[in-house]
Amino acid sequence: MGWNICGHETAVAFLKEHTKPEKLRHAYLLTGSQGIGRRTLALAFIKALNCQNPPEPGEFCGVCAVCRQIDAQSFPDLMVLAPEEGHQDLRIDQIRSVQQSLALAPYQAKYRVVLILDFQRATASASNALLKSLEEPPARAVLVLTADSEENLLPTISSRCQIVRLRPLPMEKASSWLEQKLQIPAERAAVLAHLSSGRVGAAVRFDQNPEILASYHDALDRLEELLYAARRQRLQYVESLQKSKSGQRELTAQLVSAWLSFWRDVLIVRSGAEMPLVNQDRQRSLEDTARQLDLANIEQILERHEKALARLDAYVNPRLTLEHLLLTLPILKAARQEK
Ligand SMILES: [Zn+2]
Repeated sequence: MGWNICGHETAVAFLKEHTKPEKLRHAYLLTGSQGIGRRTLALAFIKALNCQNPPEPGEFCGVCAVCRQIDAQSFPDLMVLAPEEGHQDLRIDQIRSVQQSLALAPYQAKYRVVLILDFQRATASASNALLKSLEEPPARAVLVLTADSEENLLPTISSRCQIVRLRPLPMEKASSWLEQKLQIPAERAAVLAHLSSGRVGAAVRFDQNPEILASYHDALDRLEELLYAARRQRLQYVESLQKSKSGQRELTAQLVSAWLSFWRDVLIVRSGAEMPLVNQDRQRSLEDTARQLDLANIEQILERHEKALARLDAYVNPRLTLEHLLLTLPILKAARQEK
């Protein structure tokens, strides 16, 4: 047992060190994009803080009553708070219940812990209410917040927390971890790793949802068409996407991530590198594309896709982001039809 976290070595080492009473702070903020593993890491930290039989300092056993209760979310000294079903925001009455919980002495554990997920969704009044707990922290209480980025929180909040930043994993690492963890073929693991841009939590969700993989293949089919299409058809495609109203940002990010995996393969094919392709089933189309572009072009296209993903993360309008991306893609000649 123990932490068994994929990647994030620095963050794990840091948090292990912080389970020592002399290092422990009153509040932690774990930041990173959705599906990167913030919640998993937070729960491991909370187990390490409270485990009854840690095999060594900073570790947890995973089998004692406390570890099991934390896993089952039935641990009396842990309160987990998230925006309620059907609500966009974390509200002030939820934060008030946190304050009451923190004010109590731990019932059976070493520390009473409150974990608040997605704190970037807290309303201003909820944030301000939490500030009181951060300014006058109760003894033997630890507050753990997660958020997409510290920039989306009030500076008065983030400055009072120990910030732990999580970054996506390198593709190969994510892919081999997924292969082992999910017991799936290497090829599928590679697709999931690319599709999630190295966020393994997201990749595990994708694996459980066949629709997402289907939409991955659909995204690549579309790209292959659009590469041979004129500007007008590309804009029409973006227009047609606007009809599904919900989850535009997440859908667009999945689309761009899928395309990014295609371009990484084009780069491998063009450079002649001896590396496995993610989209081996599209060898022909990868070759047709690679033949018409030089390495500098392909690198620029990859960079534009990465920038588009960063823009989506930063809440730039998904439609504009996609239009911009598609209009900067080269228009290829239909080599396949000539053969
Ligand atoms: Zn334990």
